[in-house]
Amino acid sequence: MRRTVFDDDHEAFRATVRDFLAREVVPVFPEWEKAGAAPRDFYRLLGKLGILGLQVPEEYGGGGQRSFRFNAVVNEELARARLGLGPVRVHTDIVLPYLLRYAGEEQKRRWLPGMASGELMTAIAMTEPGTGSDLAGIATTAALDGDHYVLNGAKTFITGAVNADLVLVVARTSSPPSGDRRAGLSILVVEAASRGFSVGRNLDKLGLKAQDTAELAFDDVLVPAANLLGEEGRAFEYLGHNLAQERLSIAVNAQAAAATALEVTLSYVTERNVFGRPLSGFQNTKFVLAECATEVEAGQALVDRALQEHDAGRLSAADAAKVKLFCTETQSRVVDKCLQLHGGYGYVLEYPIARMYADARVTRIYGGTSEVMKSIIAKSIGL
Ligand SMILES: Cc1cc2nc3c(=O)[nH]c(=O)nc-3n(C[C@H](O)[C@H](O)[C@H](O)COP(=O)(O)OP(=O)(O)OC[C@H]3O[C@@H](n4cnc5c(N)ncnc54)[C@H](O)[C@@H]3O)c2cc1C
Repeated sequence: MRRTVFDDDHEAFRATVRDFLAREVVPVFPEWEKAGAAPRDFYRLLGKLGILGLQVPEEYGGGGQRSFRFNAVVNEELARARLGLGPVRVHTDIVLPYLLRYAGEEQKRRWLPGMASGELMTAIAMTEPGTGSDLAGIATTAALDGDHYVLNGAKTFITGAVNADLVLVVARTSSPPSGDRRAGLSILVVEAASRGFSVGRNLDKLGLKAQDTAELAFDDVLVPAANLLGEEGRAFEYLGHNLAQERLSIAVNAQAAAATALEVTLSYVTERNVFGRPLSGFQNTKFVLAECATEVEAGQALVDRALQEHDAGRLSAADAAKVKLFCTETQSRVVDKCLQLHGGYGYVLEYPIARMYADARVTRIYGGTSEVMKSIIAKSIGL
């Protein structure tokens, strides 16, 4: 069905992004996969193209877009080109909204121009070795001492941590009052160059090989009190608000990846012959791909509706959870069925579907697992 969320400006922008990725990124991407991260200069290039600063207000050197749709275009084009570059999405879709909403004027002047140009790359560190889904269990501490916080603790699974200059760290700034574990958490903007801040292993993952995912350790890191984001003790509320866009971003990516898997497989089944005729001629192939096409269409309708709701400021946490749950579970099913149609070649990494399978697995886990999405949705319907 015809999509109606994008206009001519979005489509012109899409053409530019598609062309850029095909020329500048696709040919070198295998090297980035081997290296485990994109080179730092790539982000400066994205900054020059205006991709990193799409939603940064013009007075801070950005494009001043209020709509999330241009971000969605970039996200879809990355998925279409099968480029797992999570740090870009973390920077533009996940970290930036925190700064736009909660940073003070002085902080915005300090950070936003660099974020738009790619001089300052960012990451966000919520997850810890001991706590992921249960964010209220965060054990990293930040104790105020004069005009600095003293930060101690460890984080893990941090996307973009290797290249990050600034990391939004969620830490406990006061003990939770009994009965409210969510209180007492704050967000600090921590400079990666600070003494006592160390980046640990770049984790060797099943997929998404070109995006760095690392451990972080904080050993008496002095963070200026001026780097507190918003108000002390309100991190949980801020996360609750901002996780909706994070989950929508994951859904947009998952949806575009599912559509791409279908496209790749449609072309494979017409080229591959089995028992003397094209694989596409078998009823099973037709039925399986018809199911996939239907699921992809349903996911697209949901994503597009969510993009409209989000731009109108109406996408609730439960709505975003539904979209993430649906699109990531659909992606997994579609990619798995598409891989099956490739036979043994589907298991070989030189075939795109094999890599798509490995890359897809995490979307049901990060940004909140499918089980956590179901808990949020269940609560919203009174259960
Ligand atoms: C590639 C990658 C990139 C990531 N990037 C980032 C990042 O940039 N920043 C960041 O902070 N984190 C990041 N994460 C962490 C990610 O968000 C967590 O892995 C995720 O939230 C799950 O937490 P966990 O791994 O601790 O799993 P756990 O919380 O230990 O969950 C284990 C299992 O228990 C289930 N479970 C947990 N709670 C419940 C419940 N209440 N009811 C039913 N089942 C439950 C889960 O669904 C899961 O199946 C990333 C992870 C990966 C793999």
